[in-house]
Amino acid sequence: MSKSRLKYICTSCGYESLRWLGKCPECDSWNSFSEELVEISKRKNSPVANQKSTIYKINEISAAEEDRVKTGIKEFDRVLGGGIMPGSIILLGGDPGIGKSTLAMQAAANISSNVLYVTGEESPKQIKLRALRLKIKSDNFFILAETNLNNILSSIKEAQPSIVVIDSIQTMHSEQFDNSPGTVTQIRECTSLLMEEAKKGHFAVILIGHVTKEGIIAGPKVLEHIVDTVLQFEGESNHSFRILRSQKNRFGSTNEIGIFEMHENGLAEVKNPSELFLSDREKNVSGSVITASVEGTRPILLEVQALVTPSNFGNPQRVTTGFDGRRLSILLAVLEKRANLRLSANNVFLNMAGGVRIFEPAVDLAVCCSIASSLLDKIIDNKSVVIGEVGLGGEIRSVGNIEKRIQEAEKLGFKRIFIPSNNLKGLKLNTEIKISGVGNLMELLQVIYK
Ligand SMILES: [Zn+2]
Repeated sequence: MSKSRLKYICTSCGYESLRWLGKCPECDSWNSFSEELVEISKRKNSPVANQKSTIYKINEISAAEEDRVKTGIKEFDRVLGGGIMPGSIILLGGDPGIGKSTLAMQAAANISSNVLYVTGEESPKQIKLRALRLKIKSDNFFILAETNLNNILSSIKEAQPSIVVIDSIQTMHSEQFDNSPGTVTQIRECTSLLMEEAKKGHFAVILIGHVTKEGIIAGPKVLEHIVDTVLQFEGESNHSFRILRSQKNRFGSTNEIGIFEMHENGLAEVKNPSELFLSDREKNVSGSVITASVEGTRPILLEVQALVTPSNFGNPQRVTTGFDGRRLSILLAVLEKRANLRLSANNVFLNMAGGVRIFEPAVDLAVCCSIASSLLDKIIDNKSVVIGEVGLGGEIRSVGNIEKRIQEAEKLGFKRIFIPSNNLKGLKLNTEIKISGVGNLMELLQVIYK
């Protein structure tokens, strides 16, 4: 016997309430509550005697890297931490139309064992057309057009796949609940049912989820807590670059990114991102500075662009693309106070070229230089790279992975690199590139904009 009652659930984070609320106390979303029928059923937890649990000796459990299923797409495998872990659940989120299905199909197509692609949105014919476009010829790629989870689970038993792709989790529903597909209850329930089966059957599941306007994966943030890995596939739909970022990974690091380029016949890996990000660079323009960021294990050179213009109104604008707005405010205050640059009456627009998002503070100094360059209309030599974290006192703090950054700059033909002077200590590099240590912001600005 099961009872059911009405509840209000936040579609963003899954917070439950007995009455409707305008603002979610958990995640601060407005208007995110929807009415849902919640079944309070005793889930058929089998009595103890029926299920025999296995106890393992820790030394007997295999955790070898070769257990992972390699997709052959290196950018994808690396972001996952070396391939797909059997029994794991991967949530692949991103804006509609960004290429999630394409990525999942391309990744699954190279796997030598069985793959089951469950489509809830497109017909098998549409999938076939995409497969033709992507030149997928795999003989063990199975397609199932189904949204009923119970049917899917029995098809999984039949096909014995090692990877199951669910496209998308928002279209799936379980008969146990009367709620319509896409509601928090359904998404959560379908995911946990799949998860249970995946752990038992030792297959991995890639869940495709659409992102809401607010940038939250698949509405319910609850999913992020359930699944093993959360991958975010991002990029501008009018740009051809796509970035795969891991936001959570129980089987690898979370700061790796994979870079792809969208072509007519699918996604191509970008093996040398620095070259790509610097290729469109306009040389000898004020406000442009090159920096070296390390994303995961890989250094990427990129261009920081700033545009500083006088503001005619009392409220100057600060607009950033690919950089934290609050961090920009801090850096502007430091520039104003420590370098005597009058910025409070100016609009500041800051852009990380190429559509990447950079979170690490090692790009601070390049951001400051690009703003100063645009304000003073002085060009920084285009053969130089600038690296360093800026402290509130205007001091330059050391950054990690300095050797990698220097080597990448040298590899791409840069002649000079400015690094924090503390990073000079113990630096053992045999390089052609001229390395200059910088102690504080003023010092550097005087050198490059004298
Ligand atoms: Zn919420």
